[in-house]
Amino acid sequence: MTVLVTGGAGYIGSHTVHALVDAGESVVVVDNLSTGFSAFIPEGVPLFIGDAADESLVENVIAAHRVDSIIHFAGSVVVSESMRDPLGYYRNNTMTTRSLLNTAVTCGIRRFIFSSTAAVYGNPDDVPVREDAPTRPLSPYGFSKLMTEIMLHDVAAAHGIDYVALRYFNVAGADPKGRIGLATAGATHLLKIAVEAATGQRAKIDVFGTDYPTPDGSCIRDFIHVSDLADAHRAALSYLRAGGASATLNCGYGRGYSVLESIAAVRRIAGRNFAVRHAERRPGDIMTMVADTSRIRATLDWTPRYDDLDTIATHALAWEQKLLDDRESLHRGVRSA
Ligand code: UDP
Repeated sequence: MTVLVTGGAGYIGSHTVHALVDAGESVVVVDNLSTGFSAFIPEGVPLFIGDAADESLVENVIAAHRVDSIIHFAGSVVVSESMRDPLGYYRNNTMTTRSLLNTAVTCGIRRFIFSSTAAVYGNPDDVPVREDAPTRPLSPYGFSKLMTEIMLHDVAAAHGIDYVALRYFNVAGADPKGRIGLATAGATHLLKIAVEAATGQRAKIDVFGTDYPTPDGSCIRDFIHVSDLADAHRAALSYLRAGGASATLNCGYGRGYSVLESIAAVRRIAGRNFAVRHAERRPGDIMTMVADTSRIRATLDWTPRYDDLDTIATHALAWEQKLLDDRESLHRGVRSA
């Protein structure tokens, strides 16, 4: 039986495809390559270039590859962009998943794993935040994912699908073997910006807010290594196959690091003292976001391997340096041609 991964050429999707293949799973990918890269997909894994909302494409892939489970990553992920283009987010996230679920029902898919986000919580009343905390998203992105969670819950109940919705906290780092990492242009995430500064691609990094009532005044986040997150998807699939009940699970380590601490870790590991500028608060930012991880630890057979900020920063830096080296050699090749 085969696992269909939508968005399998993207950042988290491709790490999950690698984790599944490394665990001996048969995998097939549907990705429209709007932000993903075909080179990120391991050799031997079929890639169908197209949209997860294309019901006839997905039906054909499911039939041809005897797919029985879907892991759904395809979607849009930039909070600020969702503020400017809410309808784009409701289309790419909510409506696409509606189409994919329709296909799943038509084709008798039994298991569905969905990438959700801690953004569904908005500003939490209590930290660490538990899965049963109120959901009050602050952006169309968060709402588009929350609406999908609700839809998934209802469809699963009506059609006998078992599902796991994984709510990601701050995903960072790269494949420890250096095969893949975050390569999307214009990424806005803290550690990505920090490693771009550490590799000389930016002159400075801004710290958005140093006057929060936290120990050092900057925001606090729960960073999870992308390879541990990928492995959580593999573990969620095993859990559902073993008859586990549908579940919604936080994906983090349950430990917070401040923005200033995170930048300091990158500086220390890179050995490069790029400028750090204290800037205004970024509108819409949540002060402290840390996962309560008791549920995922009790539910899945999942042991994080990279639960350490320095390790995350080391892998992110190694990947960024590789991207830079590849780009420079490409540029040299073009110039000398
Ligand atoms: N941040 C920052 N400078 C940057 C990018 C991010 O100070 O150049 C801060 C941001 O304000 C937030 C934290 O880092 O407090 C994490 O932001 P990110 O965009 O990585 O993820 P989010 O938690 O917003 O999903």
